[in-house]
Formats: sequence, structure tokens, C-alpha cells
Amino acid sequence: MESKHELEKYVEFALSGAPEIKGDEKRRWLGEFREKVVFALTDDQIQRKDIWRILEEKTKDPRVSTMIVKGQVSGEIAGKLMEICRKGGKDYKTINNPDFKGDIAMILASHRAVNEENIWIDPGSLLSDKFYHAKSHRLCKKHMEELKELHPQFAADFQELTFVDKLAGITCGICGGEPDVDYFYRVRTRK
Ligand SMILES: [Zn+2]
Repeated sequence: MESKHELEKYVEFALSGAPEIKGDEKRRWLGEFREKVVFALTDDQIQRKDIWRILEEKTKDPRVSTMIVKGQVSGEIAGKLMEICRKGGKDYKTINNPDFKGDIAMILASHRAVNEENIWIDPGSLLSDKFYHAKSHRLCKKHMEELKELHPQFAADFQELTFVDKLAGITCGICGGEPDVDYFYRVRTRK
């Protein structure tokens, strides 16, 4: 019976053209074959505000020819993506297909098969939750130091509270501390 099964499969392939599995693959990878994908972002990842610098670097990869973006991404995000392609000299393509499956929002694709295994973002290259959800990008000394140690690549996006900030009552975006109360105390008692 094995041989009959094989024969049936063969007939099916012959009638339908490409094996169905290839069609599924293309529905997942925004119309491309997986072997051409250099880098991919999911629907959730593409919403993150700390993704842009990393994506800009990835787009410069000489193997990348085109950025392919799912039509459902917001206009604001699409605008940023186009700008990255423009800077990197890569083609930009939006693709709409109701049959797409899965949660891939964007791929960087090559003209040819690259068989890149590692197409996902390294979680360590993104901000940890604590810093990602900071209420502002002004940090107390302690949290600025922690940021520099954990995420040196994002240090320039944050700023340590300055003397003027403290005078204005601005507090750390993470811990809510601390305009330098001691300082005011010293000033008052000096009089
Ligand atoms: Zn703090």
C-alpha cells in the first residue's frame, strides 16, 4: 500500500504544480521563500520604539535587497520603515494578501537564497521591561548607571537628571526619585 500512497502523492504534485508546502511557506513569509529571508520582525516587535536603530543596522546588510512590509502596519510605522530603506539604499515593498498566515510584519529579503538561520532579533539588543516602560527618559544617577551597564547602546537615548531638572522638580522616569532634597536643605541652612 506504501507504493500506492507514493503514487497518489506524485499524481497530486503533477496536477497541482508546486507542492502545497511551498505555498504555505510563502504565505508565512510575506510572499517570499524562507531561504531568502535575512531578518524578520513580528507584529509585536515592529510596534516597539527601541527597534529602529537595530533595524537600520540590519537593513545595511549587503545581502538585503528589499524590505517587504505587511500592508496592515500603521502609516506612522510605514513612514519610518521607508526612511530606513531610503537611507540604506534598499527597495521598499508593501504587500497585501488576506491569505497570509502568522504574525510576520516585515522581512528583509535577499534576491537569492541565503539560508540565514538566525533571522530573529536578539532580545538582549532591546531594552528590558524596566527601561522600556520608564515614564520618561530622565533618570536618577543609580538608574543611569544601571542603564549604561545593561544597555550601553541606549545610553544616548536617556539622560541623567541635571541640576536644573531637579530644581524644576523632575524625577527619575523609573523610580520617581529624587530631586536633591539635601541640596535645598543645605542651601537653606547656609543662610
Ligand atoms: Zn531612579
